[in-house]
Amino acid sequence: MEKITIIIPCYNEEETIPIFLKEIDKVYNKMRESYDIAMEYLFVDDGSKDKTLSILEEYSKTNPRVSYITFSRNFGKEAAMYAGIENSTGDYTVIIDADLQDPPELIEEMYHILKTEEQYDCVASRRFTRTGEPKIRSWFAKMFYKLMGKISKTEIVDGARDFRMMSRRMVDAILSLTECNRFSKGIFSWVGFETKWLEFENRERVGGTTKWSFWGLLIYAIEGVVAFSTAPLAISSIIGIIFCIISFLGVCFIFMRALIFGDKVAGWPSLACIMCFIAGIQLFCNGISGIYLSKTYTETKKRPQYIAKKIHRASQDTNEKTDPEK
Ligand code: UDP
Ligand code: MG
Repeated sequence: MEKITIIIPCYNEEETIPIFLKEIDKVYNKMRESYDIAMEYLFVDDGSKDKTLSILEEYSKTNPRVSYITFSRNFGKEAAMYAGIENSTGDYTVIIDADLQDPPELIEEMYHILKTEEQYDCVASRRFTRTGEPKIRSWFAKMFYKLMGKISKTEIVDGARDFRMMSRRMVDAILSLTECNRFSKGIFSWVGFETKWLEFENRERVGGTTKWSFWGLLIYAIEGVVAFSTAPLAISSIIGIIFCIISFLGVCFIFMRALIFGDKVAGWPSLACIMCFIAGIQLFCNGISGIYLSKTYTETKKRPQYIAKKIHRASQDTNEKTDPEK
């Protein structure tokens, strides 16, 4: 019998969990007809402030497949996914959102592909439409993927979701990356392994609201760039060199002009503008170095990705904390 662990990161999902459970149970029952499998739904309550936790506690009493981990506070979806992966005991591991934007019925197809096509270790999903999303958000997302394609060696697929099924060896490979600043879309691609892509049309949430604000997404995009590319550092150095050359030529020109035509004290406003501009560029480049430095700083602290308040497994119940050394 093979086990599939389904990881569901949840932050304030009281509205969607009951609907999600109904859907995933349907998938489980259907898959049981054709395969000899066991499933565990590993919900990760990412410090929700609504009734998410009490709903999970209730369901875990009646549904033998429901496990949950609850965090001491909100650590973010990346930490929730990491906690799920770290605690996954399945031969196959699935990551799926609680809001049914990722169609659970694809899980059967994913399993079928991994069982029959041996070259694949991962079946991932990507949405080919972004209907229902604000236009400006789609535009920025597109630009982000384009930019990443240019400045990073790690391929990050446009529209790729975190929704995927992975083999045990791929999950172990992901766990071997211990960085604190995690950008999973990059990590999934960085570890390699053959991935098959399934496409689906974008869906609206079944309830609740998205946790992503525009700024949240912008910061997430910067995290992605910093985690998988050092090109901004090189670009800032190149900008520095270009400005050195321009200023050297400018000094030569001014010096020659003063020798030939004398120095009429003029042009102060333009000089002030140029100084401001160059100071801006310097601060910008400093800022880029600063971002990388701050990431290095947080990495050296080696803080745990999350602190679990309680872990309830479908078969066991423990009050474990994560090992801070991990
Ligand atoms: N999520 C989480 N922690 C957070 C934010 C979100 O675990 O801090 C979960 C959320 O409950 C959902 C998934 O991550 O299951 C995706 O979140 P959301 O639907 O808000 O993102 P979107 O689909 O709009 O990108
Ligand atoms: Mg969503």
